[in-house]
Amino acid sequence: MTPDRGSTGRTRLVLPGQYGPLFDDGGPALVVEAREFFTARPVHRAKAHLWLSALRHRVRELGDRAEHVQVDSLQDALVGRDDLDVVDPPSRTLRAQVRHWGRGTEILPSRGFITDEAEFAEWAAQGTGRFRMETHYERVRRREGWLMQSEQPIGGTFSLDHQNREPPPKGATTLGLPEPWWPTEDDIDDEVRHDLDRWERDGTARFVGRDDTRRFAVTADEARQALDDFVQVRLGDFGPFEDATLTNDWTMAHSLLSVPMNLGVLDPFEVVEAALTAHRDHDAPLASVEGFVRQVAGWRDYVWHLYWWFGDDYGASENALGAHERLPRWWQELDASDIDAVCLSTAIEGLHDHGWLHHIQRLMVLGNWALQRGYDPVHLTEWFTDVFVDGTDWVMPANIIGMSQHADGGLVATKPYASGGRYIDRMSDHCGGCRYDPTKRVGADACPFTAGYWAFLSRAEPALRDNNRMVRPLQQMRRLADLDEVVAQEARRGTP
Ligand code: SF4
Repeated sequence: MTPDRGSTGRTRLVLPGQYGPLFDDGGPALVVEAREFFTARPVHRAKAHLWLSALRHRVRELGDRAEHVQVDSLQDALVGRDDLDVVDPPSRTLRAQVRHWGRGTEILPSRGFITDEAEFAEWAAQGTGRFRMETHYERVRRREGWLMQSEQPIGGTFSLDHQNREPPPKGATTLGLPEPWWPTEDDIDDEVRHDLDRWERDGTARFVGRDDTRRFAVTADEARQALDDFVQVRLGDFGPFEDATLTNDWTMAHSLLSVPMNLGVLDPFEVVEAALTAHRDHDAPLASVEGFVRQVAGWRDYVWHLYWWFGDDYGASENALGAHERLPRWWQELDASDIDAVCLSTAIEGLHDHGWLHHIQRLMVLGNWALQRGYDPVHLTEWFTDVFVDGTDWVMPANIIGMSQHADGGLVATKPYASGGRYIDRMSDHCGGCRYDPTKRVGADACPFTAGYWAFLSRAEPALRDNNRMVRPLQQMRRLADLDEVVAQEARRGTP
């Protein structure tokens, strides 16, 4: 059914990442379900489920205002239409397609972030080409008056990160928090699962990972419930344990809200306001609230802008540490069956089961491993985009190429995020049950992260020797009498 055109005579094109009321101005809508959105590369099955479920729930919410087209490609939906407007979509590929095929399509400024693109570009153009997340975050805090008092940050400093680095409670196997809010599946989820099964059977799509239960919010209503639950139950523990990980607690105190925000069903302003209200009215601890606000209004917003600011070449041409290794089969297939390293098997298994890991598992375990082993940063970025349920074209490049892999030579982070097993041991309960020893760098029980750390420094030394923050680690590395042995051992290592 084709809905009546609104007073402007235009129909709002609804694309991935635009599945909430934030992208709706009240008129008719063309919701495009292009098979290519879900099948272009092998993605996590739970991710395909979530994004398709969000799309179809949006169609139901819009009711008579929605025209739902199921096509192979976006091009099929755009050609011949001259009545569309669209909020500028959140990927270069989609923007190019809309501009190429949607002749006459009116492009509206992007939405769904704390600051707009023009404002960021103006600020970035004034700088030296290196803009720190911290500076962006301070600007946002001052502009919005968030956690400010008389022009000064509450708590005396903009970042209370130093209070947010606790290891997990000693002896604990979980943080002991109640289960997070979970959605209730409905007939749309059944239909989505049925269609994904069919696509797999007919060979149209190939997925990895498990899709047993939907665990993330896909509508604005669900997202609000998840947000309320998080600020009431988990926010207080988010800060201190945000850098910790436990084998048997896959959610820890994290919010699980990156999915609804990236789907476009949850406004980041609403998320920040909810955390601020919890602090103001319900005594939520300042360090937790500040740490959470920084994730949403600082880091998330910053990597969105870097995606546009760095442009097409970022990633394609960056490989500052000369990393060219192919991603191994077990990694691509999320197959933990042969992995002995408990930290890594916990991460790969969790990713297989949920399509999601909290950020310290992404950074300290997966990213650290990939950095040490020299995985190709562009392929790695695509992989993270495809197998994480919150993965999008815009969110992964600065996170993976920049923050995690240091492949941009330091545009995003001042040094590589590399660490040995001792740090993992401090921030987790993984090592106690592992056949490797985090203190050992040679021998059958040498920790692959500890040995891998030194082997990585040895390999990357020419590229890192002028980095002030790497002077000490490189000095320590040069003093190791067994360095050659460590390097040779790690060159032989297969699945850890
Ligand atoms: Fe991971 Fe090493 Fe600890 Fe095993 S000993 S869990 S491989 S850090």
